[in-house]
Amino acid sequence: MIIEKIKAKSFAKKGKIDSWWWAEASMNPYRGCYHDCKYCDGKAEAYHIHEDFATRIQGKINSPKLLDQFFKKLGYFPTNRSKTSTLVDFIPGSKLTIESTQPSKFICCVGGGVCDVYQPAEKKLKITQKLLQVVYDYNFPLFLLTKNKFVLRDLDLLKKINNFSYANIGFSITLADEKDQKIVEPNASTTRERFETIRKLRSEGIHSGILFLPVLPWIGDTENNMNTIFKQAKEANAEYILVGGMTLKPGRNKKEFLNMIKQNYPDLLDSYITLYSNENKYGQPDKNQIKNLGLINPVVKAYQYCKRYKIPIRMPRYIPEGRIDTNIRISTILFHLAIIKALRPPIWYNTYPFQEAAQFIDSYNIDLQELSKNQINALPISEKVLPYVFEFLETRRCNYLEDIGEFKTLFVN
Ligand code: SF4
Repeated sequence: MIIEKIKAKSFAKKGKIDSWWWAEASMNPYRGCYHDCKYCDGKAEAYHIHEDFATRIQGKINSPKLLDQFFKKLGYFPTNRSKTSTLVDFIPGSKLTIESTQPSKFICCVGGGVCDVYQPAEKKLKITQKLLQVVYDYNFPLFLLTKNKFVLRDLDLLKKINNFSYANIGFSITLADEKDQKIVEPNASTTRERFETIRKLRSEGIHSGILFLPVLPWIGDTENNMNTIFKQAKEANAEYILVGGMTLKPGRNKKEFLNMIKQNYPDLLDSYITLYSNENKYGQPDKNQIKNLGLINPVVKAYQYCKRYKIPIRMPRYIPEGRIDTNIRISTILFHLAIIKALRPPIWYNTYPFQEAAQFIDSYNIDLQELSKNQINALPISEKVLPYVFEFLETRRCNYLEDIGEFKTLFVN
């Protein structure tokens, strides 16, 4: 493996809320990933990452500095930094005053689908560690995604972030059987190691759970694989399991995956070729073939296991200080309804109005509690959705979610 140091021109950017892990800014400190998962979406040409994705790793060494500038530009102050090189260091209590006058905060996601932030190059470059230090300095909440037990090197720092704000470590886990897992994710920590790491983080009071994605058709969606992962998640005290199917973008992403199937699961090759024969640019499988091949949506299957093992299928949401609490709670309920209504009879396939309203309310800067009924009716919120909004405003509840036991697990705070 070759490790290269590069300088990024830009690094973090703030966007819309991500309703999977509730982050509003994401950052990838590396280009390429030694873990070399055979389904890795990051290998798709769309991301413009070099051909030797798994063997040449580029670390953006200036990213901690860029993150610091990003926070500063948005009007934040490093209140947890011991020396800020400003007058504030000499005025007693001024850091506390500054903290209360800053803009409201949001969850930052370190890591994502195009690199793993604790892959072996991190041992040498320590970029992720420096990023966490900046996140801590600015007292920001954090979500971090990895497949590597090496995250425990930074346990003390994660505990500090969690004590001051919020730290949540998500582990992507897809295959319980170690032989399958080594074929599909050759250089990541083993599934057992990932579960052990979750257990350790949870015992230290840090938020942690599982991203069961992608669920590999015929390999990952079997009764045995799903049940084992949920059982082990329960034993590790995982806080949530998010589930999603597999996309294979035409080009390198699909080619590499099919190559792995040909070599290791030849009996499945024709089925995979048929399932992804539509060449969908986002890599979605062909809906007609899903049915023809007798596949069931893995999220539908997983929902039964979530119920059996009493693990939420969504990540409980942390509400950063200073946010409009009512709006965030309503938007979270609506995002949740959009998922749940597609899973429970009578199934609603058009849950788009719920997602659209949730996105709108999440970033709406007037507290809905302060508006009249007429003013709320005039907002771009579908008639289908409005009853849930008014119900929450009047009762601070959502009966639909309470009746199925999913109201209490929506929030961390
Ligand atoms: S760990 Fe993530 S980024 Fe790395 S190869 Fe696997 S899927 Fe891709």
